[in-house]
Amino acid sequence: MKKIKIPLLRDHHTHPCVYSSLNQCINLRSVLNKEQALTQMSQSKNEITVVYGWNSSFYSFDDKELDRLPPLIICNLSFHSFLVNKPARDILYSSHTEVISNIDKTNWIERNLDKITKFIAGLVTSTTDQIKSFYDDFLVTKGIWYAEELLLPDEKFIQLLLQNGLIDRTRIWADLEMFHSLDRENQEHIQGIKVFTDGAVGVKTATIREGFISGEKGIMIYTDKELENLLLKIKKTGKPIAIHAIGDLVTEQVVRILEKFKSQKVFLPTIRMEHCQFITKETAIKAKEMGIKLSMQPNFNSDSRHYADRLPEKYLRNNNPFRMLIDEAGFVPGEDLIFGSDGMPHGVQYALEQSLFPFYQQQKLSIKEFTAGYCMPDKSNGHIVVEVDESQQKISTRVII
Ligand SMILES: [Zn+2]
Repeated sequence: MKKIKIPLLRDHHTHPCVYSSLNQCINLRSVLNKEQALTQMSQSKNEITVVYGWNSSFYSFDDKELDRLPPLIICNLSFHSFLVNKPARDILYSSHTEVISNIDKTNWIERNLDKITKFIAGLVTSTTDQIKSFYDDFLVTKGIWYAEELLLPDEKFIQLLLQNGLIDRTRIWADLEMFHSLDRENQEHIQGIKVFTDGAVGVKTATIREGFISGEKGIMIYTDKELENLLLKIKKTGKPIAIHAIGDLVTEQVVRILEKFKSQKVFLPTIRMEHCQFITKETAIKAKEMGIKLSMQPNFNSDSRHYADRLPEKYLRNNNPFRMLIDEAGFVPGEDLIFGSDGMPHGVQYALEQSLFPFYQQQKLSIKEFTAGYCMPDKSNGHIVVEVDESQQKISTRVII
């Protein structure tokens, strides 16, 4: 048994605004049987019940069983697909016509994730107490001190974060439209601009070259030309850019466009690529040369098991290829390779378990690499006692504040 102390986490990619409100909602993540899920949802007394954490590989629902329940929106674990029952549609249609008419269309969802996030955030709006308690009670007990907001859903969250003295424990990213809607003062609080280039693995909208087992190729949101134009528009804000790119086709697209810009002597602000779960070695080497930072989630190592029903074996094996990125492409944890959770789930326990004892050796991080890419620079806010049992391949963590 090895025992070490590491600083609290710095979660570089999550969604505190939406999660702080969802924390009050029904979470199906650990509800493994459908009857139990239906019972929980049927007991809700809210005007509209928002449910999250649903993993479609465990069970699915049909319209009839959902329409019997109170007004309900179920968010898929990935937040890229949604079930809205008839009673909820009836209530929401007139106030949110566009979202409700398109909520079943995968293509529309992938292109309008900002609208969906704002829609959900509007239904579960969190109060100043909820956001404070999210940071001080929920995140801290999971070992997280600092948590970046990767897609600001609503301007008022900036004030909530400021009022609660939380602005130093986050960085806020917003899509370009949201950024332009803010006044100068609020724009100052925005770290950078978020762009989506594909969807998610769970709903088979991440763009992978060989396609999913059932044939889907994923959704590439922009053509090269469109993405080039968008990046040039963002360049005018002078802000760093965080680009969501999961599949090999889009990580490649991002690098291709940046190379083209470079050859034309067009220089963009700092670029961070979010997730890049299926980045190839060839793309990774170019990304390193281009000075792109990779922002990845060790907890998604387990996608290789959870999504074995939809991803070809080659992709299961090459999901989150940390060894290739560090040993062959030369990325350095803490410098140009940083870690976060995307809230799936939050916290040190699962992330560290997945890092030290992953399903595929390619996904393994040492505790030193984990700490460099995922932890606060020191233990002044608290620390985590980690016990590693190599023989049992188990860890235990204790957060000390
Ligand atoms: Zn995210």
